[in-house]
Amino acid sequence: MAAFPAGKAGGVKILIVEDEPKTGEYLRQGLSEAGFVVDLARHGMDGLHLALTGDYDLVVLDVMLPGLDGWSVLQTVRRAGHEMPVLFLTARDQVEDRVRGLELGADDYLVKPFAFSELLARVRTLLRRGRSKEPEVFRVADLELDLLRRRVVRAGTRIDLTAKEFALLELLMRRQGEVLPRSLIASQVWDMNFDSDTNVIEVAVRRLRAKVDEPFEPRLIRTVRGMGYVLEAPEGE
Ligand code: CA
Repeated sequence: MAAFPAGKAGGVKILIVEDEPKTGEYLRQGLSEAGFVVDLARHGMDGLHLALTGDYDLVVLDVMLPGLDGWSVLQTVRRAGHEMPVLFLTARDQVEDRVRGLELGADDYLVKPFAFSELLARVRTLLRRGRSKEPEVFRVADLELDLLRRRVVRAGTRIDLTAKEFALLELLMRRQGEVLPRSLIASQVWDMNFDSDTNVIEVAVRRLRAKVDEPFEPRLIRTVRGMGYVLEAPEGE
């Protein structure tokens, strides 16, 4: 099992095992746009091989697959000692299917057809649950974000943020030092697509700065023109 993905340069890795080309491609594209590193397998055996060797943080697994079905893939993965969260995709909303999946070690399931936003929400919840080694407090310079207590403190001063501001700051702190494109921020914090009106993000960043940056020194949130935003301690700090 991977330690905490926040520290990995390449980000969180997700494996999709889905033989239906349209669904697979839709998932691959959506999860990539949401900022994940995504691999797609269209065959049960390929999926199993990747799941065993690819160091994934999460697997999205279809039940009906050519070669080897989802049940067998899951069973083999669990027997080999891999504990990454597995989200099952099932076309049939039948109680025995769900029970069987959960008994074999699936963490959650989703019945097709599903909305992408729902899949994304489940994926994020599973990743949060799966990351036991994830730090609960992020720190950059004198700014501190406490995930569990939902608390932000800078230079000893408690700062009140809205839920969106908190999510935005969490993303920036999780990926500190990385320039985050507006499209990525939109998909991670607002669940919007690339084409959405990104003015929302500029306004939110401005509000966040007014609270966590402007009353303090040094400034931590930088705009990188034409690219996006980055949160980091200035050189030498
Ligand atoms: Ca299938």
